[in-house]
Amino acid sequence: MEYRGFMLDCARHFIPVKDLCRLMDGAALCGMNTMHWHLVDDQGWRLEIRKYPRLTEIGSRRGPAYFGAANEHENNEGFYTQTEAREVVRHARDLGMTVIPEIEIPGHASAMMAAYPEYGCRRTVYTRDGETVQETPYTYEVGTLAGVFPNLICAGKDTSVRFLKDILDEVCELFPGPFVHIGGDEAIKQHWRRCPDCQRRIREQGLRDEKELQKWLVMEMGRYLHEKGKKTIVWNESLDGGILPDYFVVQHWLGNDSDTAEFMAAGGKVISSEIGTYYVSRPWAFMDAWDVYSAPAVPDYAKAHPENLLGIETPMWSERVTNPARAEYMIFPRIRAAALKMEGVEMDREQLLSHLREISAKLETIGIHPAPESVWIADEATRAEAKKADDARRHAPEAADTWRICDDLMRLEAMEKLLIALDMPRPFATRVMDCAFQKVPEFFGTAENFGGDGAEEMASQLCTALDNRSFGPWKDLPEQVWLDTMKCFTRFVREHIASTGWAAFDRGFWTTRQIHAKLFRIGELEYELVEKEEGKIISIHIPTDAHLETDLLNASVEQARSFLKTWFADWAEAPMRCSSWLVSPDLEAFLPQDSRILRWQKAFDLERDEDGKSSLLMWVFGLCAEQLAAGVDLNTLKEETALQKKLKAFLLSGGTFVNGKGTLVRRFE
Ligand SMILES: [Zn+2]
Repeated sequence: MEYRGFMLDCARHFIPVKDLCRLMDGAALCGMNTMHWHLVDDQGWRLEIRKYPRLTEIGSRRGPAYFGAANEHENNEGFYTQTEAREVVRHARDLGMTVIPEIEIPGHASAMMAAYPEYGCRRTVYTRDGETVQETPYTYEVGTLAGVFPNLICAGKDTSVRFLKDILDEVCELFPGPFVHIGGDEAIKQHWRRCPDCQRRIREQGLRDEKELQKWLVMEMGRYLHEKGKKTIVWNESLDGGILPDYFVVQHWLGNDSDTAEFMAAGGKVISSEIGTYYVSRPWAFMDAWDVYSAPAVPDYAKAHPENLLGIETPMWSERVTNPARAEYMIFPRIRAAALKMEGVEMDREQLLSHLREISAKLETIGIHPAPESVWIADEATRAEAKKADDARRHAPEAADTWRICDDLMRLEAMEKLLIALDMPRPFATRVMDCAFQKVPEFFGTAENFGGDGAEEMASQLCTALDNRSFGPWKDLPEQVWLDTMKCFTRFVREHIASTGWAAFDRGFWTTRQIHAKLFRIGELEYELVEKEEGKIISIHIPTDAHLETDLLNASVEQARSFLKTWFADWAEAPMRCSSWLVSPDLEAFLPQDSRILRWQKAFDLERDEDGKSSLLMWVFGLCAEQLAAGVDLNTLKEETALQKKLKAFLLSGGTFVNGKGTLVRRFE
């Protein structure tokens, strides 16, 4: 394979030039011909850029880091001057090695943004009275925690795009090799979604969403580098927004195999860096030398087009690899196992061990101390022990903050994506997210007051709902039922807008059933699992947007029965009952004989529900829960439809209207 790479992350922990050169010597001895130099990340900016001195003045410094469970004080600071970078390139050339610099765009940019916050996003804030734009909404700091953060560079400001191009100009001058890596992974787009500049860019470029905005930015950089005669490498998430032209190379590390396969089918070149096979920052016992050697050289996604697989790369991330000695231990002689595979050398386990012994002896002569032979091959007991140690590390009390913040940020991203999937009106979705962001004010600042619009309640409910979807009662239920059911949140907000003219959520008392998987939307109707004294019943609800068409209704009931049989077998045969103004026998007096509602009623054995509280005002007159709670003056009821007119007159004349109730006993006709 032509590309035999290893990656050093010098952002999380700085590696001085002298040590870096020694590691390169070792990698060359192991057969590697490419060093991918991870120079910038949330936790540090390590390359001098003459036009933007604050990148290193501010971005290369941080306090003690806290990455998982190692509270430590070494190699948190430092950067490479341009003279040193040239020295590294020269050293590489002497070894027959190419250096690929990586400048992360648009994510993992906390250090960059801490130095130049003016290239971050602005933020639109919505309140009941309208919207305002905050010019400098976020406070950025060089990261001292591990994880994925929302600190992206703004893709909407032309000045930000120019800033990136200026940086790439200097990078291209320093590194004569054919490739520049621009990252493109793990970019969570919460800043972009509320930034007026990013949103304007999306509109002007005719893009669909923020994913496509990322692709637009990646393309902009790729074209720029292409004009300078460079190919651009990106992590495989960059294929999210669609296929990329052939001056891009994709580095595959996790997920979305089909996107990568599609890119290769179109002729795109790929570097394989699977997290489970090649990340040499993982403990030896998780990924020993034999695991690395014996994993297939051509991963599944590359099988159809192995000719487009450039090669393999072994990344060493340095969150918990805090010094060069530890790096030597993690990298050597493990990367030799990957190189052997790329060279197509066939070996059994004993031959591999004996070969690694030879290589290790040679590495020692150039001052490198590889991991001892005792860890090269892990037995089951060692693996179990390592797994336990890793769990203990993750659950250590000093790691709790790191995981909590990571979990919160990931959950917030999931929540925002859900709100988008539910088509929640964006101003209100933003309010909900602003409330949710209060969990991690260090990334979003403190929000304005919310004036009782229910956004806080919705944020808290969605949080529970997502937990229930991840590991609670919703866990295995079908995606479509989940999304259809959760759309009630949007419906209720839209209903509130229709009744009052402003967005709010006042149905939290109702939606607790949906979030706990007790009430499901299946087709046109909703089905609630209710435990009554007399036993289990399925309560049927009619959403306001339901189409009371016979075929759709019968299909809904059929699907609901089948859903229950599969997922809630105890409920499969339970009677389906409806209690609603829609099944009130009183309606007959107010509706034409061929009305769909009267036809709908015929499927039930109806009776008057004298005790039931009538929901007539809510549904017929479109009043929201808040208005009902405040008390209603009948004189103010709308008279837009014939039914409204008749019922209003009836109520004003002192008439009482009761709901009906009944069991579903026949098909809808
Ligand atoms: Zn922006």
